Amino acid sequence: MQITGFGLTDVGRVRSSNEDSLGVFPGLGLYIVADGMGGHAAGEVASRLAVETVHQYLAGGDSEEVTLPFELPPDLSFTARRIVVAIKFANLRIHEAACADPAKSGMGTTLVMAFGDRDAADAVYIGHVGDSRAYLVHDGQARQLTQDHSLINDYISQGLLSEEEANQHPLKHVITRALGSVRQIDVDLQRLTLKPGDTVLLCSDGLSNLVGESEIAESIRTDSLETACRRLVDLALKKGGDDNVTVVLLRAISD
Ligand code: CA
Repeated sequence: MQITGFGLTDVGRVRSSNEDSLGVFPGLGLYIVADGMGGHAAGEVASRLAVETVHQYLAGGDSEEVTLPFELPPDLSFTARRIVVAIKFANLRIHEAACADPAKSGMGTTLVMAFGDRDAADAVYIGHVGDSRAYLVHDGQARQLTQDHSLINDYISQGLLSEEEANQHPLKHVITRALGSVRQIDVDLQRLTLKPGDTVLLCSDGLSNLVGESEIAESIRTDSLETACRRLVDLALKKGGDDNVTVVLLRAISD
C-alpha cells in the first residue's frame, strides 16, 4: 500500500495575513498543519518554524538518535519516539525564538501531523498539540481522531458544557496547549491502520469551526485529493471564511 497527499491553505475572507503553515512531504510520508498565534508577524513565524523543524528532524535519517534533553517513555516505538522528539524540538525552538525577541513574545502554534510507520506500510502515526484536528474518512463516514487541547473541550469532558453550547461559546478559541508557550510540552500520539481508500484530513480550526463531519465526508468522496482540498476550502470560504483555512489530505491506495 502507498500513501499520497495534497494540501492547500487560504488566508480566508476576513484576515489580512495567513498565520497557518502546512507541510506536504510525500517522499518522507510526512504531512503537517500548524496554526500560529501571537499577532501577524509572530504567528506566521511560529507555524513556519514548527513545520520546518519537524521536517528537518524527521528528514534527518533513520539512525538511532540522541533524544536528550527529553525523557520519553521506554515503550514507545522507534517511529513514535522520533515524532515526539521532533515536536518537542520544534516547541523549544519556537519558545527560544519567542524569548529572544520582544516582538515575538508569546508567539505559539498548534500542530497536527501524520507520519508513516517505518515498520508497517499501512500505518501512520497522528501527533498533535492544540486544536488543529485530524479526521479519518472511511467508507463515506468522517470521524474526528484528535481531541482539542482547548478550554471548551475541557469543559465538555467535565460535563460543564454540551457540544451545542460549545459551538457558540465566546471562549471557543482558547487553547490549553500550544508549541512555544513553555519549555516542556506533552504530545498526543496515536497509531492508525489504514485500509485502501481511507483518507485522513489534517486541518486548522478555520475549517473545523465551519465545516462538520458529514460535510467533510461529502466533500472528500472518492475524488482526487486536489479536488477534495479545493472543495473543503471553498466550503469554509462560502460559510464566511472568518479565519485562515488549511487542509491537508492523505489517502491510502493499493499498490
Ligand atoms: Ca486558526
